[in-house]
Amino acid sequence: MIPKKSNVFLFQASPDPGSARSSSFEQAIAPGNSTLHVCATLETLNVLIKRANENSGLLIVVVGYERATEGKDDHMWELATSAVAQIRNSNLHDAFVVLWSASESADAVKRSFWQRNGANMITESLDSVRSVLTTIETQLSGTGPLSTCPYCQIELPFYSLRIHMPLFHIQQGNKPGLCALCKFTHPKLAVHMSEAHDPSQSHKSKRQPVFSLVVARRPLDGKFLMVDEVCSWGWWLPGGGVDIGESLANAALRETLEEAGVDVELKGILRVEYTPSPHSSQSRLRVIYYAEPKDLTPPKCIPNYESAGACWVSLEQLKLLHLRGDEPIKWFQYVADGGAIWPLSILATERENCVFVANPF
Ligand SMILES: [Zn+2]
Ligand SMILES: [Zn+2]
Repeated sequence: MIPKKSNVFLFQASPDPGSARSSSFEQAIAPGNSTLHVCATLETLNVLIKRANENSGLLIVVVGYERATEGKDDHMWELATSAVAQIRNSNLHDAFVVLWSASESADAVKRSFWQRNGANMITESLDSVRSVLTTIETQLSGTGPLSTCPYCQIELPFYSLRIHMPLFHIQQGNKPGLCALCKFTHPKLAVHMSEAHDPSQSHKSKRQPVFSLVVARRPLDGKFLMVDEVCSWGWWLPGGGVDIGESLANAALRETLEEAGVDVELKGILRVEYTPSPHSSQSRLRVIYYAEPKDLTPPKCIPNYESAGACWVSLEQLKLLHLRGDEPIKWFQYVADGGAIWPLSILATERENCVFVANPF
């Protein structure tokens, strides 16, 4: 069944639900939008879920919550977690749940908790909430042959489904599904849609075994930038494959912006790795860059094919996260311990002039 419209609700887990915070939300999100409703009790939320179920509208619930001062009882935390659980335990498998919270968004451990408990997106930014609501509304009004989502069985036009899958199901792993354009069932439909049907014709179709990875540290508090990978692979360094014709440095900057939403300045190189293979086309080259952010823009929070989001993480928090591998631990400790960072000029093309660097030995 195709949902005809979306119903947007703000569930305010706050001692004062009619606060300035919820009115700022209403002003920012829904000027003139009659479908936005504010509620503050689980009973009201239950009624709204039932109503959305009956009229087959898509339910979007934004749960507003801020953590109480550490050490104090936080009844609102129980209310917010119960609200998310209530939505997830309903029959509305296509509901979209945003946790709107500065205290939870900036902490990778708390972000992981809310994702495990059913939030599709965690953000402190009202602009990001507005942006994702617009995206969801736009996908409902798309045209073209319909495709079925293998996760929630919703039917959407092909390119709308392409946007829908990472937004709604990024934590659910790969599933097989029929591609309406190829007329073929692919074992990993989301991967196929990401790589084979990118309307921007981006770099993804051109691959070589050359990679740039970025260890980015924020001088303000010594935290490191981590990406929450798609399909619950775990947290990992920003970075990825270098496009054919692209420089390693550009790939490092591009991937950090795409996966983490952070504009960084490359400051140096931690290591250059070349792993030979008997198959010439499979010999791998990886460069691990050291970088720092250009400004204090919060990391990306809207799930898409690049990542589920990103966060600045301390060494202590790193031990509490599900990691894709142990490389971030090694590199973050190395940088925190004052390990050598080599000048960017040690990596050059054959035509570039020699840059003098003083002998460090
Ligand atoms: Zn779906
Ligand atoms: Zn296809």
